[in-house]
Amino acid sequence: MFENLTDRLERSFKILKGEGRITEINVAETLKEIRRALIDADVNYKVAKTFTDEVKQKALGANVLTAVKPGQMMTKIVRDELALLMGGTASDINLDGRPAVILIAGLQGSGKTTFSGKLANLLKSKRSRSVLLVAGDVYRPAAIEQLKILGQQVGVEVYTEEGNKNPVEIAENAIKYARGKNINTVIVDTAGRLAVDEAMMEEIAAVKRAVKPSETLFVVDAMTGQDAVNTAREFNERLDYDGVVLTKLDGDTRGGAAISIRSVVNKPLKFISSGEKMDALQVFHPERMADRILGMGDIVSFVERAQEQYDEEDARRLKKKIVKNQFDFNDFLDQIAQIKKMGNMKDLMGMIPGVGKAIRDIEISDDMFKQTEAIIHSMTPAERSNPEIINPSRKERIAKGSGTTLAEVNKLLKQFDQTRKVMKSVATMKPGMAKGRRK
Ligand code: GDP
Repeated sequence: MFENLTDRLERSFKILKGEGRITEINVAETLKEIRRALIDADVNYKVAKTFTDEVKQKALGANVLTAVKPGQMMTKIVRDELALLMGGTASDINLDGRPAVILIAGLQGSGKTTFSGKLANLLKSKRSRSVLLVAGDVYRPAAIEQLKILGQQVGVEVYTEEGNKNPVEIAENAIKYARGKNINTVIVDTAGRLAVDEAMMEEIAAVKRAVKPSETLFVVDAMTGQDAVNTAREFNERLDYDGVVLTKLDGDTRGGAAISIRSVVNKPLKFISSGEKMDALQVFHPERMADRILGMGDIVSFVERAQEQYDEEDARRLKKKIVKNQFDFNDFLDQIAQIKKMGNMKDLMGMIPGVGKAIRDIEISDDMFKQTEAIIHSMTPAERSNPEIINPSRKERIAKGSGTTLAEVNKLLKQFDQTRKVMKSVATMKPGMAKGRRK
């Protein structure tokens, strides 16, 4: 989403190339470029102006370090200021209360209901909370249905009162119900309208007064650009919410809202959502986002995602097999499944420093393993656990069965063989050897 901005910022730093140090004169053009790049990325004009003023002060006041070139220095200053602008550090949601009540507000179509499902999923799977989803959109039966489906998908109960048109009552009853069943978290989805309107605001405000949520979250569609920030401001004036959720960052958005919202509304951006799947939700980390905007990748998030999928017991078992040279095609399939669980491929690869830019224009499909899987699925169980027996006639049969060619089957077998060798040498390495240290 920040591709264009990343490029332009990088170019603006290059203007300083060849300069010995940063001066008022030579930094002017760079600052102008940074400001233009931000505005083109849909960052609010005033925010962009204040930002570059701040960067200028820092740059001129920065210690002159001979080891650091002005371009590098500017990159660092802009990165730190961007992180600060977006809120500095990540802010958590408040889950006090028995049950903790989280109220979800936003315009219709912003992604409220989808987010409610995702949040339920996240709290349940990562924070071991017991969750009740409440269908508070009393005007659209479809919204209630949608929430029920999402609840089913993530394995969370959905509270509804068919026929009751009073959201305050529904929310209150739901909380009583949760208490009775010892459920510690209640997420109340509310009705949205197409535009900010008084009746809608009053209705949500009434629910808020009645249930006194520990956390009120405002959901907004990133694709609406500058409007996202304006709507955020209007909702805040009325609801005084605790945090913002930006959705649809996977779409065709320039991302400016993510940068501006914090400083315009003075409320933290807490979650970003980038897809329709239930696991496409991330806690917002300003510093990591600043790194991503500057093309530095987001290795911390990458490692975290990998760790979520990593089961120590499995890993130990796998290592044993590798050492004994028993790693087979069944294990290979398992590994592919684990990588796929980590999420959208392109998103994932973009988190690795330097890679995001390189793969920007390349179509990376989540089906990149499809062919490999097809070939393995066409092997017999004996062939999978004992690849050595795959002779030319078996290869022929596998190629036919998987709708691939002999060359493709050969390629996979060769890759598999190499992977096996590399893994074995890594697995049998003594600790410390990897770093080239000598005992
Ligand atoms: P609500 O009216 O605010 O409850 O919005 P919904 O949750 O029904 O979402 C509106 C539409 O946006 C639906 O088609 C969702 O599938 C879609 N949507 C929600 N969040 C995202 C997201 O992060 N990315 C994308 N691409 N679509 C989303």
